[in-house]
Amino acid sequence: MSKTLYIVIPCYNEQEVLPETSKRLLEKLQSLVLKNKIADNSRIMFVNDGSKDQTWSMIKGLCEENSVFAGVNLSRNRGHQNALLAGMATAVKYADMIVTMDADLQDDINAVDRMIDAYYEGNDVVYGVRSSRKKDTCFKRGTAHLFYKLMSFLGADIVYDHADYRLLSRRATENLLNFDEVNLFLRGIVPMIGFQSTTVEYERGERFAGESKYPLGKMITFAFEGITSLSVKPIRMITIGGLLICLISLGMLIKSFVDYFNGNVVPGWASIMVSIWVLGGLQIFAIGIIGEYIGKTYLETKKRPKYIIESVILDDKDISIDRN
Ligand code: UDP
Ligand code: MG
Repeated sequence: MSKTLYIVIPCYNEQEVLPETSKRLLEKLQSLVLKNKIADNSRIMFVNDGSKDQTWSMIKGLCEENSVFAGVNLSRNRGHQNALLAGMATAVKYADMIVTMDADLQDDINAVDRMIDAYYEGNDVVYGVRSSRKKDTCFKRGTAHLFYKLMSFLGADIVYDHADYRLLSRRATENLLNFDEVNLFLRGIVPMIGFQSTTVEYERGERFAGESKYPLGKMITFAFEGITSLSVKPIRMITIGGLLICLISLGMLIKSFVDYFNGNVVPGWASIMVSIWVLGGLQIFAIGIIGEYIGKTYLETKKRPKYIIESVILDDKDISIDRN
């Protein structure tokens, strides 16, 4: 018997793309049902992440038109990752498998077919991986590459060129939802769940319409969050760095004693100034990083909810498809 699929799509101010996205997803879902790959009670679930435009009223309209659409409305904007979680937590009650993707059609929806095949082959996690980054700007390509390199250097097990386009089985999702941390960086956490997993390649396109909700500032914050929530290595590196500097200064002390007894007193104003500035900078940086971790611990101890769901629209009718 075919299984129930929920496609979860976080939406933040996506009124420009929603009509096209919903149309294409509907076609996709219907074709999958017709091929008996998924059950009739499968759904396309939009999560409205506190949009300020017409996104939520458009989602409500879609749900009224066709029961294949479902909507989750968050009480306010909580960010992409939390919107995904809210959608998955709602969908997992009904779905056998959940696909998450962006609203802007950058993720090629035709890859869903192969993800589902991989699921039936026994995979609990199927990562969508970009086959190329041709459409990205040089800058985005470069920084993304640097980010993945840095992550693997820091010991975080993340899948190269995989964003948040993936399929999770029900049990993988249930286990993911047990990771109770407030700072959740999904692409770092998902590999921790384990189970059998595979990747599916897809061509990442350009945003269909509207603007990116990840401007540079937000992207840097996101990368920083990712690093500090997955790895404590930066703190260790600071400790080692501090130790090295201590050793070097011990050497310098010995050298200056030797110089003193040999009568070589060097004026050395510039070198002192430079070392003060460099060390000062390093110290502030180090304190900053340690502060980052302390701040994270502080937030985690509060155990605040990651999102608040204001309303859910979910019709329990099976979708009606003309099977002729
Ligand atoms: N998004 C969200 N909440 C936010 C920011 C973004 O739900 O606060 C959604 C957005 O609607 C989209 C997805 O996250 O479906 C990815 O955002 P976007 O396409 O703007 O990012 P980019 O592809 O430019 O990195
Ligand atoms: Mg996008």
